[in-house]
Amino acid sequence: MEAILETRNPRPKTQDLTPETETRALSPAFQFCDVALPVPLDNAFSYRVPDGMEPAVGGRVLVPFRQRRMSGIVVDLHDRQPAVVTKNVVSVLDPEPVIDAQLMRLGKWIADYYLAPLGEVFRTMLPLSAEFKRTITYRITEQGQLALHLGGTSGSSARARRTPEDHLTEFRVLDYLANRESGREQSLQSATRVSRAVLAGMVRKKWIVREDVSDAQDAARVVKIAVLLGASPSREPATSVDTGARGEDVRRSATKKLNANQQALLHSLAGSGGRATVEVLQNLEIPRSTLSTLVKRGLIEIIEELAEFHVSRVKARPSPFGFEFNLAQKQALQRVVDAVSTRKFAGILLHGVTGSGKTAVYLAGMRAVLEAGRSAILLVPEIGLTPAVAADLHQVFGEEVAILHSALSDQERAEQWHRIKRGDARMVVGTRSAVFAPVADLALIIVDEEQDSSYKQEETPRYHARDVAVMRAKMANAVVVLGSATPSLESYYNATQNKYALVELPHRVEQRPLPEVELIDMKQEFQETGQEQVISRKLAEEIRERLERKEQVMILLNRRGYSPVALCRACGSRMECRNCAVAMTHHKKSSRMVCHYCGFEAPVPKKCGECGSEYVYFLGTGSEKLEELLHGMFPTGRIGRLDRDTVRGKEDFERMLGALNEGELDLLVGTQMIAKGHDVHGVTLVGVVGADIALGLPDFRAAERTFQLLTQVAGRAGRGQTRGKVVLQTYFPDHYAVQYAANHDFAGFYEKELRFRSWMHYPPYSALANVLIRSDKLDEVLEWSGTLGKWFEKTRHEGVRVLGPAAAPIVRLKRDYRYHFVLKSPSREKLNTALRAMLAYAVWQKIPRTQVIVDVDALWLM
Ligand SMILES: [Zn+2]
Ligand SMILES: [Zn+2]
Repeated sequence: MEAILETRNPRPKTQDLTPETETRALSPAFQFCDVALPVPLDNAFSYRVPDGMEPAVGGRVLVPFRQRRMSGIVVDLHDRQPAVVTKNVVSVLDPEPVIDAQLMRLGKWIADYYLAPLGEVFRTMLPLSAEFKRTITYRITEQGQLALHLGGTSGSSARARRTPEDHLTEFRVLDYLANRESGREQSLQSATRVSRAVLAGMVRKKWIVREDVSDAQDAARVVKIAVLLGASPSREPATSVDTGARGEDVRRSATKKLNANQQALLHSLAGSGGRATVEVLQNLEIPRSTLSTLVKRGLIEIIEELAEFHVSRVKARPSPFGFEFNLAQKQALQRVVDAVSTRKFAGILLHGVTGSGKTAVYLAGMRAVLEAGRSAILLVPEIGLTPAVAADLHQVFGEEVAILHSALSDQERAEQWHRIKRGDARMVVGTRSAVFAPVADLALIIVDEEQDSSYKQEETPRYHARDVAVMRAKMANAVVVLGSATPSLESYYNATQNKYALVELPHRVEQRPLPEVELIDMKQEFQETGQEQVISRKLAEEIRERLERKEQVMILLNRRGYSPVALCRACGSRMECRNCAVAMTHHKKSSRMVCHYCGFEAPVPKKCGECGSEYVYFLGTGSEKLEELLHGMFPTGRIGRLDRDTVRGKEDFERMLGALNEGELDLLVGTQMIAKGHDVHGVTLVGVVGADIALGLPDFRAAERTFQLLTQVAGRAGRGQTRGKVVLQTYFPDHYAVQYAANHDFAGFYEKELRFRSWMHYPPYSALANVLIRSDKLDEVLEWSGTLGKWFEKTRHEGVRVLGPAAAPIVRLKRDYRYHFVLKSPSREKLNTALRAMLAYAVWQKIPRTQVIVDVDALWLM
């Protein structure tokens, strides 16, 4: 907090136009403040402001709430006597706002639009929990008051160990605390020069109470690293007695008795230079117990280090400005720069085919903003912010950029927040929550890959960062650029309605041609070969050709694991997760059954759990099995796999793509992750296996997702001027999503899909909300959803369609039973009015607020 005080003073170049200063000047006159607390309750809470305290609207205060003390954001200061008895504010944490007037408005909009408690919205917006966690306060007790007045006689039992000086200090502390509700440890120490030991003694005597608002959780992120003991092999006779050589001896002698898993783990650790994070090792599909066994045997040591986000060590990449802008890029940049200079809100949808150089346009636009002395925010999808991208950004913006990525600790996040707030970093790049960066004089917000689902937060507040970016730009009179090769239906529709200007980058840079796409009808393949094929004859032939020509291949199968279903032939039951109503996936290498929804693991069944039959079959193909199949078909090919089992961190992701770029791999198999790499230019063939998995899901966005995924992965094909090829295997060759993707026909797909959405009253023609009722007790879910269903029936909500209650497509997830309603309305106002009334009724019916989840503009109805 002190840091804010000291550095708050804005630089001369920043004009402080916010009304913060006015509010503060007036604040001493107010007797009450309304505080938004991070609790699942929709209202703010009123507190009395004691004399001498000066809270500010947008600043944090510490207040008593139920049996605890909590920090919340002041949303109003007033003199209206609340109807209920009010408690006093304990202390003012920020004398100046940490949420400025603009972000305050944005926060209220989010709370209103997404029906989320305002306090929880602010908690999401403000990454200062690390500072808050360290807040320790002391309060005087009645016994303490007594001791103060009686001269400390009640503490006589401890007299023996107390020095006269301690005695004086204790009185100073009691005197200090007697005059206020409570004191923060730091203020108390500077006022009385009391030591922690003396404070602890006073707590034992019950004169004072220590209140630690922390969650007892270390703010810094620690990573566990496995180190191979005696990692440097020495062939000389062991004359020295250093531990390394001894470790090597131990290792050599012990290696003989190791089982295959243990050897594999040691081998892989040695291969990565003798050290790797435990997280990475646990993803090797080797049982977790293997690592602990090796630690027990003294072959591996686990050490803890602070997490760091290393800027890429991958070889230097060409500068994003290293090539000439083509005409379309120049025009797009000009549109952005012109719009920014008007200082009025404008939305631009930048639709650029894959490889058309959108990033260069973003960075040039941001640089123009920086040169004008203003601020810009670039939002990127979760997987997009790799260390290599960070290195590029540093190269372009130097110290003026703040990069907010998920590997930051709470502490580091808070530091970046202060840098931005001070105006030291005016270019902000980050994932979802960077949309709340406290920049001054915002000129430009760019949302890269605006259709990406990682922009939607799947917990309260369930906001969509793209939509928040548009609203923030409106409030700031700034320009918002939504960029994508495959824009969402919503954004494209807005562009057709002239809400956004549509700017196209229709060509790949340097006239690289778009790939040729060949569809393979897998039904026909089955008829002709007489058996179910994973890799069609055509795809196999194309792969063989590429490998012979030393070219590279990518194969997409958007399903990880070995087999997605374990089925009993005798009784027909499939093995389901204990916590979820979904099939468990067989992972062969780790020899486990895994639930991909909750992470639950179980041994691979030898018998059916229902009938005891031994005829358990594993059906279907995941990426692990596909990799094995390809090894069998192309034994000399160097094959890598990219999915959540082989890749955890962004560094693994980058390393794998780096290996492909460096020519260390011939063939890369993977899930949708492989569609997201930005810098793969060596691949001439992309195979898509099971292109239509998603089309079978009961979700109105299934076609859109399939089209987007196919288009993105197809965009990976083609090297330099060599035209790439895509082989797309499907059981639904006539489905329009597949057809339009094969023809690179964006406009055609959008037109058809929009017609479908219009008939079915789905977004963008309706506002939609999913209301999920959940409980680990089925009875409760049935009762609550029945109660709400009856209420929806007997109350009239004109212009709102209510579907349900119905069992959710995944009826049980993470132990909760789930029923849902889907609400649709052409009027967002009417939709939200109905939802608000429903929530009020639920409270009245004593249905816990946390068990009714309202997801406005839900991306998934599963
Ligand atoms: Zn059975
Ligand atoms: Zn599960």
